[in-house]
Amino acid sequence: MGGVDSNAAFTTRLKNASIADQLSQTYPLDFAIPKQYKDAGRLRNDAFFKVLYGNTAKEVQANMTTVQWRPSGKTLQFNKRNNASIQLQKVGDEIAKDKALSAYVAKSLGTLNWRMIAGTNRLSSHSFGVAVDFHLPKHLHKYWRWDGCTSEDKPCLYPKALLQDPKLNQVVKIFEKHGFIWGGKWASYDSPHFEYRPELLIKECR
Ligand SMILES: [Zn+2]
Repeated sequence: MGGVDSNAAFTTRLKNASIADQLSQTYPLDFAIPKQYKDAGRLRNDAFFKVLYGNTAKEVQANMTTVQWRPSGKTLQFNKRNNASIQLQKVGDEIAKDKALSAYVAKSLGTLNWRMIAGTNRLSSHSFGVAVDFHLPKHLHKYWRWDGCTSEDKPCLYPKALLQDPKLNQVVKIFEKHGFIWGGKWASYDSPHFEYRPELLIKECR
């Protein structure tokens, strides 16, 4: 297969990912500019999420619980299955020890939302209550589609600033330590987005 075919394969697999696809890209622990199609975590197998977190909006809703989010002193709703809410609580408790870091994640833009990903007919991880978006400082608040990109085949210029902010780096590392990936490490960047994906982070699966 040539380059063009393997490029087509990524966008095709994105639409209907198997569990093998889901684990096929290694989530990076460094802060390097992601190459095109390097979107570890965006390949999601819907059935996997439904089994873990709930089959329908109603089932997911019944699995939601309240997390005391210490960086803001407010609460967040998060799925309690698979330890997701417990791990989010740990993230918040650790970030809250540092005021400067807390400021980055003090404004939640939401967790649970049974919806399709913009521009697709695939369920967002927000549908399962295992993702949270934060309002980051303006120059770090970046989503590829807001920059006019519509296809993984025609990538935007990756905004390097996302990787060069020491405080944001620290925030991201704390999330990762507790089983969350950051959308800022995707070629199809989504910097407000943090998502509970322990299968991509625990040593045994890497
Ligand atoms: Zn999000």
